[in-house]
Amino acid sequence: MNYSILLRQMFRKFINTESRFYKNLQTLYHYLTSIKKIRKHKYLNFNVAITKHCNLNCAYCFAFSPLAHEYCYDVDIFKKDVFRISELTDGKIRELSIAGGEPLLHPRLTEFFDIARGCFGYYPKKSFGNIFVITNGTLLARQPESFWVSCRKNNIEIRITKYPIKLDINALKQTAGNYGVKLICYHETDKTEKRMDSLKLDILGRQNIKDSFIRCFLATDCINLYNGRMYTCGVPVNIDVFNNYFDQNIISTDKDSIDIYKAHDINEIFDFLRKPIPFCRYCDWKNTKTNLPWRISKKEITEWT
Ligand code: SF4
Ligand code: SF4
Repeated sequence: MNYSILLRQMFRKFINTESRFYKNLQTLYHYLTSIKKIRKHKYLNFNVAITKHCNLNCAYCFAFSPLAHEYCYDVDIFKKDVFRISELTDGKIRELSIAGGEPLLHPRLTEFFDIARGCFGYYPKKSFGNIFVITNGTLLARQPESFWVSCRKNNIEIRITKYPIKLDINALKQTAGNYGVKLICYHETDKTEKRMDSLKLDILGRQNIKDSFIRCFLATDCINLYNGRMYTCGVPVNIDVFNNYFDQNIISTDKDSIDIYKAHDINEIFDFLRKPIPFCRYCDWKNTKTNLPWRISKKEITEWT
């Protein structure tokens, strides 16, 4: 569970998020928690986005999914990469999130479950080896029995981010329970009032990278593995989607990630992940908008700039 997100949601209920007081509080909070980012991690938490597209099209989506063509991550690349991570960590990670886009759109989803669990042990008492799939939940009701059986067999937990759309959570919980699968729901209230933060990109790349990194709540909290490389966040991973749709040229280079095959050990990867990357110059967290009402994307560049 990401407690920093829960804390922010709680604050927003009581304080006007457009007020100067809230902005100052937010800056203070980011500076105070920056220690967590630069502290060396002991165990790895990471995401793999197995699709870039999604069936929900939310405005402000950090993965740029409303702009994405259908894209499904290569199972063999995933297998090779998680095997390498397992070698580096002795099969002991804290968490792996199988995410997207919408991961349930991947036609070979359960193969990811088998491969991931084959690489990483599960030690619930010590909170190691949690593997979960993060979904908007809309495709869960139509999953075949093989999906639930695979979740059960591989100890895969389902985590639903709830949006203001019709979704029978109780029925899904019932199904999951029948198969012995753990299912939890973020933002679970009867009246779902999902709020969104916007990612404000500075297309000209004029931001100070240290300042952006310290203000950023994705840095080190949303570590992404993609094509043999580890990133401190998912934004450079998906920037091609933004560039292609809006004909922009925001550049991500190899300096924004670390090659997991060239790293000598996991500590070298941890060292890399706790530092700003050149790409941080494109993120304007000072002027980002928070607590926006959820809506469908109009696919306008202003949703991300
Ligand atoms: S459900 Fe998630 S991935 Fe899909 S468009 Fe919305 S924010 Fe993006
Ligand atoms: S590039 Fe840097 S500032 Fe931007 S989201 Fe990633 S870590 Fe945060």
